[in-house]
Amino acid sequence: RETKEAFVTLATNDTYSLGCLVLEKSLRKVGTTRQLVVMVTSGVSEPMRNQLTRVFDLVQEVNLLDSKDPMNLMLLGRPDLNVTFTKLHCWRLTQFDKAVFLDADTLVIQNIDELFDREELSAAPDAGWPDCFNSGVFVFKPSQKTYESLLSFAITKGSFDGGDQGLLNLYFKDWSTKDIARHLPFVFNVVSQAFYSYLPAFKQFRQNVKIVHFIGATKPWHHTYNTTLGKVTALPGTGHDSEFLQMWWDIFMETVQPFLD
Ligand code: UDP
Ligand code: MN
Repeated sequence: RETKEAFVTLATNDTYSLGCLVLEKSLRKVGTTRQLVVMVTSGVSEPMRNQLTRVFDLVQEVNLLDSKDPMNLMLLGRPDLNVTFTKLHCWRLTQFDKAVFLDADTLVIQNIDELFDREELSAAPDAGWPDCFNSGVFVFKPSQKTYESLLSFAITKGSFDGGDQGLLNLYFKDWSTKDIARHLPFVFNVVSQAFYSYLPAFKQFRQNVKIVHFIGATKPWHHTYNTTLGKVTALPGTGHDSEFLQMWWDIFMETVQPFLD
C-alpha cells in the first residue's frame, strides 16, 4: 500500500530546492512510510538535481511546454498561470493512488501519515480567509482526467488570485460546506501569520503543530544565520516564529548544507 502513496513537493529553481531538501529530511525524521517525490522544472541546476536525487525516492521532471499536451497552445497565451500550472502537474503522478502535496516552504514537525486516510480534496483553512483552503498542504488523487479538467478550468475561468490557491478554491468550490472530513485541522498547515492574530491559541496548541508553513515573500532561507552560535536571527516583520525557524535551520545545517558545494 505504502508504495502507492506519496508526499509530493515542487521546485522551479535552486533556492526552493533547498526548501525541498529540508522538507524531505523533516519527513524522514518523523518516520514516514510513504514515498517522497519532488517535481522539478528546467530552472533547477544539475548539481541541485543531484542533491535531490540523493534523498528523494523520485525526482519528476515537469515541463510546462509538453508537446504531448493538447492544452499546450492555449497555455501559451496565458503566461500568468505558469507557476500555477506547474503545481497542477502533481495530478499526473498516476503511479500513486493517493498523494499529499506539500509546499517547499513547509516543515513537518510530527508524523502526518494519517493524512492518507483523507480523500480529495482535503486541506486546512487559510488563515486569511478561512472559507478558502490554503493550497500549501492538500490531499489529492492523481488522475490524468482531473489534471486535464483542472487545466481547461484554469484556461476558461482563471484564478482569482493569479496563483494555484485561487484556482483550486474555485475548482473545488464546495470544500468549505460539503464535508467536514475534507477540512484538515489547522495544525496540518500552521502559517506564521496566525501567531500574531491569535497568540493565546498559538501558545495553547503549539505542541500539537504538525506542519509549519512559512508563507509570504520571506522564506526560512532568507533569514540571517550565525554559524558560530548556530542560531538564526529572524528578520523583523515576517511573523516567522523563531523556534520553528531554528528547527528549519538545524536540519539545513546538519543534513543539507554539508553536501552543497
Ligand atoms: N514555487 C517554486 N518556485 C517559485 C515559486 C513557487 O518552486 O518561484 C513552488 C514551491 O514549492 C512553493 C510553492 O510553489 O512552496 C508555492 O509558492 P510559495 O510557497 O512561495 O507561496 P506562499 O505559500 O508564500 O503563498
Ligand atoms: Mn508556501
